[in-house]
Amino acid sequence: MTAIVGGGVPLLDLKAQFRSIEDEVRAAVDRVLTSQHFIMGPEVEALEREVAEYSGCAHGIGVSSGTDALLVALMAIDLKPGDEVITSPYTFFATAGAISRLGARPVFVDIDPASYNIDPARIEAAVTSRTRAIIPVHLFGQCADMDAIDAIARRHSLAVIEDAAQAIGAEWNGRRAGSMGRAGCLSFFPSKNLGAMGDGGMVVTNDDALAERIRVLRVHGSKPKYHHKIVGGNFRLDAIQAAVLRVKLRHLDSWTAGRQRNADAYRRKLGHLRPETAFLPEPGPWRHVYNQFVIRVPERDRLLESLRKVGIGCEVYYPVPLHRQECFADLGYGESSMPHSEAAARETLALPIYPELTELQMDAVVAAVADHLR
Ligand SMILES: *Cc1c(COP(=O)(O)O)cnc(C)c1O
Repeated sequence: MTAIVGGGVPLLDLKAQFRSIEDEVRAAVDRVLTSQHFIMGPEVEALEREVAEYSGCAHGIGVSSGTDALLVALMAIDLKPGDEVITSPYTFFATAGAISRLGARPVFVDIDPASYNIDPARIEAAVTSRTRAIIPVHLFGQCADMDAIDAIARRHSLAVIEDAAQAIGAEWNGRRAGSMGRAGCLSFFPSKNLGAMGDGGMVVTNDDALAERIRVLRVHGSKPKYHHKIVGGNFRLDAIQAAVLRVKLRHLDSWTAGRQRNADAYRRKLGHLRPETAFLPEPGPWRHVYNQFVIRVPERDRLLESLRKVGIGCEVYYPVPLHRQECFADLGYGESSMPHSEAAARETLALPIYPELTELQMDAVVAAVADHLR
């Protein structure tokens, strides 16, 4: 029998995180309240410098969300209606939504079933004369194979825009997520590894001209004020979010270490399960930041049900791959056109991995999973 830890185990416990930094956060928010400077300004600029440095980039441009980071990055490379952008169908909707909102066409390339990231070996066959860019998604906190993707992009002169929404601080071959493409897009949605107390995001880049263009697009294309050479939008980040994020950034490495510790513990404690019964994420050669710890089991829905019954938080990321979404029906992808993404959507389940997870809680999760799969 599985012992239930009082109230079960949530998938994510932001209250526990808040308790550990409450005084710092309240002081930071107070600073903004005293200043009454709410939009952009010194807190946002300081956060931009700090996140850019953390991500190995020369520039950071704070924006209103991860979704808007993708949108404004694609606007900045001048993506046009009819252009094609290659990306993964196994991701959060925003990745392809941003492409579509500019009138361009998402071209889906199936994933590598072990990493859940876009399979570089399949990308080249999807390149056409209309392809402008590739958006690799560093899913669950693990970088896509950026050496292979970079080589393809160079051969065909394509822009690489990294969707690093789940991967701040992750690395590929010694380079940080966000620093390897023309631009990297970060999300500060509360459930991300660096989460705001509301919406927020950032574009990071080493390209001076692109950074300048994104800064202008962020404020309706205005430069100087009230003079518009290009049409942008309101993609601004507010100062309270920036102040909170600056506090949290100081803790991010220790939180990441906690996530990695928990991932190792899961592998140790569930390692006895046969690989046909449960496939656990592999640590990989580069820094994985475990935004999610996603296991794969053949009868996923039954496991989901029994975990929920004993109060273990878990979630399916993502139940419907993007090529099967109703809004993309006109793209014409057939039922089994992306078999690895479809299998992942049927068989994967995210377990609690947040850094404040106690040993007792982890043991409750492990016992419930092992009980069910035995
Ligand atoms: C969260 C997320 C986004 C969007 O970020 P928001 O801040 O929620 O707009 C984009 N792509 C991926 C892969 C994400 O996980």
